[in-house]
Amino acid sequence: MEDKNRIGTLYIVATPIGNLEDITLRAIRILKEVDLIAAEDTRHTLKLLNHLEISKPLISYHRHNEEVKSDILIEKLQQGSNIALVSDAGTPGICDTGEEIIKRCINLDINIIPIPGACAMINSLICSGISTKEFTFLGFLPLNKKLRKDKLEEIKMSNKTVIIYEAPHKLKVTLKDLEEILNCDRKITLAREITKIHEEFIRGNIEDLVQKFQDIKGEIVLIIEGNMDVTVENELNNLSLDEHYKFYERQGFSKKDIIKKIAKDRDVNKNEIYKNFV
Ligand code: SAM
Repeated sequence: MEDKNRIGTLYIVATPIGNLEDITLRAIRILKEVDLIAAEDTRHTLKLLNHLEISKPLISYHRHNEEVKSDILIEKLQQGSNIALVSDAGTPGICDTGEEIIKRCINLDINIIPIPGACAMINSLICSGISTKEFTFLGFLPLNKKLRKDKLEEIKMSNKTVIIYEAPHKLKVTLKDLEEILNCDRKITLAREITKIHEEFIRGNIEDLVQKFQDIKGEIVLIIEGNMDVTVENELNNLSLDEHYKFYERQGFSKKDIIKKIAKDRDVNKNEIYKNFV
């Protein structure tokens, strides 16, 4: 029988998003203690390790070799190695690789431990001046036209704060797209180069940003205020009937209850709704 105690641990270690001081004491200790560090870009991580005076074997682990390298890492974990997974910046798994190997480790009963630290979206949000109570993180907007249109529609209708990541060379197009769907009442904060020398938070509305900040450089997070005109009810009523049905189905309601709820939301007789689902 396999000796479970001999299985290693995968540590998901957050690293700085600019300022090299933004790494925890625990992260440094773990990086020192593990047998191996799996890094998105080994050259990039080597700079951090040199700064911390840590010498450790590195293995590259990124989007394009994820499958093959996951096999190797899992084998090593099963043989008892402890491994730290790091990305180029911030928290692995957040718009970075990590998700796949983490799912595989869970399925294989391999221990995974998060080592918290920097994350661009959280630090942009907390200084944005926009509500932190409820928010939706959308990562990078898709490039595919249809998917992008759907995401923009989601932003338009969201009554929660929305956070997106953007690459500087795509900012101009993204701001134009946002201008088409946002009205000027919605606040927007552009967080740029946070924790670095040129850190700045530009707060305004979409028109201000489009006019003044199209050629901005550096790493960027956009935080968009929720649409105050959208209540949960009219958000639901803007869904198609099928989507409205699925919304309640996902919450585990029976068909009968779903039909009742949709009828109530839409203020129509439940038979009207029922005939669409026979
Ligand atoms: N895993 C990272 C995290 O925890 O935030 C995100 C990695 S994602 C590939 C890179 C994107 O994160 C950039 O395009 C930018 O939108 C955002 N980002 C990373 N560092 C940043 C910084 N210092 N200032 C502003 N945005 C940053």
